[in-house]
Amino acid sequence: MVQDIEDQIISIVDELYDAGLITPKGGNVSARIPESDELWITPTQLYKGGLTEETLIRVDLQGKKLGGRDRPSVELPMHLLIHRTRQDVDAVIHTHAPMATIVGLFEEAIPPLTIETIALAAAPVVPFMLSGTREQSQAVVDALGDGSAALLQNHGLLTVGKDLREAANKAQQLEFAARTVVVCRLLGGQPAVIPEKLAEFLERIVA
Ligand SMILES: [Zn+2]
Repeated sequence: MVQDIEDQIISIVDELYDAGLITPKGGNVSARIPESDELWITPTQLYKGGLTEETLIRVDLQGKKLGGRDRPSVELPMHLLIHRTRQDVDAVIHTHAPMATIVGLFEEAIPPLTIETIALAAAPVVPFMLSGTREQSQAVVDALGDGSAALLQNHGLLTVGKDLREAANKAQQLEFAARTVVVCRLLGGQPAVIPEKLAEFLERIVA
């Protein structure tokens, strides 16, 4: 049986929480209800390790609340702008993933260490801005372009996808890549990198 969108959001939040990408209060997930201009989004403030469908909030693309007892994430404006701008996107994930957050603090190119870090190389870094502001939402949309991931400086990561599975895979892939980068920096020295020509080829496949 196909899970409904609310079920899928809860499953994905649980998965990302268990993987350490979503922190007790940091992280939000939204997904469009198929064939509609409405979406479900996770609530603000509540502990993210045990959300239930009853805590999700249904809104239209302008942010008008249509259902749910709780308040939506304060980062709703960013989700809405992405859903309004990207016709190819039905799911948006933002988390305070620790390793991706650390890598986003450095203004350095990510070396092609593994196939996952090649995917990270394509993720733009968005300067820190206050959550929920129009300025931040626009900066994220501009940086994302037609890509599928961005690092939010001093804050976390953002991924999008045609569905929740695709967006969650990208989030896990980014955090995995970031962990590789952080460990390499801790070890010091000069790590071996994938040869440039092969890295360029792989980038077209994984980004
Ligand atoms: Zn956040």
